[in-house]
Amino acid sequence: MAKITLDNLAHSYLPNPSSENDFALKELNHDWTDGEAYALLGSSGCGKSTLLNIISGLLHPSQGRILFDDKDVTHAPTAERNIAQVFQFPVVYDTMTVRDNLAFPLRNRGDDPKYIAQRVNQIAAMIGMEDRLNQKARGLTADAKQKISLGRGMVREDVNALLFDEPLTVIDPHMKWELRTQLKALHHEFGHTMIYVTHDQTEALTFADKVVVMYDGRVVQIGTPQELFERPAHTFVGYFIGSPGMNLFDATIDGSTASISGTQIDLGAGYTPQTGRTQVGVRPEFIKLSTDGTGIPARIQRIEDVGRHKIVRLDVNGQQIAAIADEGANIAADTNRIVFDPKGINVYADDWRVQPQQEAA
Ligand code: ADP
Ligand code: MG
Repeated sequence: MAKITLDNLAHSYLPNPSSENDFALKELNHDWTDGEAYALLGSSGCGKSTLLNIISGLLHPSQGRILFDDKDVTHAPTAERNIAQVFQFPVVYDTMTVRDNLAFPLRNRGDDPKYIAQRVNQIAAMIGMEDRLNQKARGLTADAKQKISLGRGMVREDVNALLFDEPLTVIDPHMKWELRTQLKALHHEFGHTMIYVTHDQTEALTFADKVVVMYDGRVVQIGTPQELFERPAHTFVGYFIGSPGMNLFDATIDGSTASISGTQIDLGAGYTPQTGRTQVGVRPEFIKLSTDGTGIPARIQRIEDVGRHKIVRLDVNGQQIAAIADEGANIAADTNRIVFDPKGINVYADDWRVQPQQEAA
């Protein structure tokens, strides 16, 4: 196991990149703590696989260095990095049995046959393939083959890190949950450094201690699920995470007051003057409906009952926003304004969160 350091790392697939837009991975400095479980989350095309392949050595970065426990491995081949990587689609040896597929990485290292037999049985149980160990991989479903790929990724106990690149894409939905649980269990048991790539926020938030959110080739925030919820560092994190995502209101900010479509709002904290586009971000969980004449004028358009709570869709000055109300809440027909819970307010300038100057008295 190892700490992984990315130092000034960036990558362009073009031979002569001339601007930031030419980089699939924009400059990045980050330490991946030894033994931590990370999710790498972002929409398709944002650079997740590029980053993962640079860490594993399948790709050489056009700029910067990668260190494993302070040893420079930037130019080391994949085999030397001692990493297990599982891809989106199965990589198995069709002519080999399930057992031989799982044993392959261990035999390759000349491990003791007794240990191999025991370890293969253990992994087979984790992926639910104990009864098919003697079957050839050829003829198995894509789902079963992907479980073998996962098993092969997990079989070695001595790897520096385990990298998973959207490994559950071809797995049947009910099995997804079970395999994710197994990966978590594996992490608890062996404490590997794990990086799990996904575009699915639920998967990311349930799997990881820390979530690394990428947007357009850039890491925009690294944080616990709670930090991503409460203090999104970038508007993308606000609306990508959460269901529905964070509401954003164009605003002018003056000290601890914001003006949103003509209404003055108390921000609960002071801000220095900002240039560029300023917005107030409030998650639906922190928006309350009001009938007493205070708050921002709003018109209810639709109420969705989603079981645990209600999602109230409102029109605010021509913009659609969402509020969350309790399951049993009575939503007054004369609701005509919304108010913000100050602890759920974040201020953004050109999409980046602005740190408040001081908490209001
Ligand atoms: P993700 O895994 O988040 O979906 P990728 O890392 O695969 O994203 O891709 C990031 C960007 O780099 C995309 O714009 C993609 O089109 C581009 N890209 C990926 N692989 C290559 C390649 N081999 N050659 C050129 N461009 C690539
Ligand atoms: Mg990818």
